Amino acid sequence: MKTLIKNGRVFDPSQNLDAVMDILVEDGKIKAVATGITEAADEVYDATGLVVTPGLIDMHTHMREPGLEAKEDIISGTMAAAAGGVTTVACMPNTKPVVDSAIIVSGIKQRAAEESYANVEVVGAISKGEKGEELAEMGDMAYRGAVGFSDDGHYVKSSRLFMLAAKYITAFDKPLMLHAIDPELAAEGYMHEGAVSARIGVPGVPSISEDIAVARDCIIAEYAGAHVHICHVASKGAIDIIRQAKKKGINVTSEVTVHHLTLTDEACSNYSSATRVSPPLRSWDHVQAMREAVLDGTVDCIVTDHAPHAPEEKDVEFRYAPCGFCGLETSLGVMLTDLYHTGIFDLKTIISKMSCEPAKVFHLPGGTLKEGSVADITIMDLNKEWTVDSSKFYTRGKFTPYEGKACKGKAVATMLHGNFVMRDGVVCTKK
Ligand SMILES: [Zn+2]
Repeated sequence: MKTLIKNGRVFDPSQNLDAVMDILVEDGKIKAVATGITEAADEVYDATGLVVTPGLIDMHTHMREPGLEAKEDIISGTMAAAAGGVTTVACMPNTKPVVDSAIIVSGIKQRAAEESYANVEVVGAISKGEKGEELAEMGDMAYRGAVGFSDDGHYVKSSRLFMLAAKYITAFDKPLMLHAIDPELAAEGYMHEGAVSARIGVPGVPSISEDIAVARDCIIAEYAGAHVHICHVASKGAIDIIRQAKKKGINVTSEVTVHHLTLTDEACSNYSSATRVSPPLRSWDHVQAMREAVLDGTVDCIVTDHAPHAPEEKDVEFRYAPCGFCGLETSLGVMLTDLYHTGIFDLKTIISKMSCEPAKVFHLPGGTLKEGSVADITIMDLNKEWTVDSSKFYTRGKFTPYEGKACKGKAVATMLHGNFVMRDGVVCTKK
């Protein structure tokens, strides 16, 4: 199978490439990137006026399999990914059972190989059952292809257990991906602690609950020589600790979510459960600090923390709602609307942090359009105007704080291993 993508603006930060060119794809690989390719192909895709980038990579999602399929499964979750222009998702292990053994890693990878619309990378648990008591079989899971390890949803509270994990993991060259929030400081809060929480009468989570946790994790990373990746940083104090740690040469990387770059705690002021998330949406000073950290390189990856829940779970009062909402179908559009078209980030920053850098940090194929690499490609229309309408989403968890948002910019085609999995917003269902 040969596909020729003609006349697109080929935009690949991994090669500093930004020019109108053609891309020839053959047998799942990028065969040539050049101007005026005339070779005959089975299909010619006219990308005139469109931007062709490496497929987007989202290192923090919840596909909810096994066991929580009322919220999402690998099919619905990866269809949402394809619809949003995302070709690789990493799925977190807080499933039922928890992904804490090699057989579950293999099972998810097998199921994804058979049925998914995106590459699925599996994150294994650090501790058995994510209970924070005993190490999970990380070595075995690493051999089965786990991309990293996390007790996401929980902080690894015991410093001793975390230190053991950090020492152990150095043998496998995989990161520990940390949900770094001190649970005792966060336990009694439902949103960011600040002026808005005081005004609307909801107990708050202080941002220092992140700062303290991140500081400990960076100290242990240095001591053990381990790679730690701090998930969904949302506090200006925490991001500054990561900045200092990087300067010291500690092997720490970080990610920030689209919502922590674009929304403040004001979004919670109508008590909508669609705005409840952990870490919580914070005040404007924190949002600004996250944006600066993306620009100065403290942040390596932009992620969604796509965390769908069943409608009956989320359709309750603010404080009873579980944390998290869907993100795969809005991430690119929101980034382009709020950060690219406003001139805050350039396109290179966005594509680097949503594709090239995650590939580098986690040693993944993709994240590039170099000849010979896997043909995972996102084609986007930077000026396409559309409105967020969750009733049209592929994900099962329809709640989003962006409902009704007018967006400019969208993925219009997604190619996975050389085959289109989405065209014009419609996922190409498998035969
Ligand atoms: Zn988390």
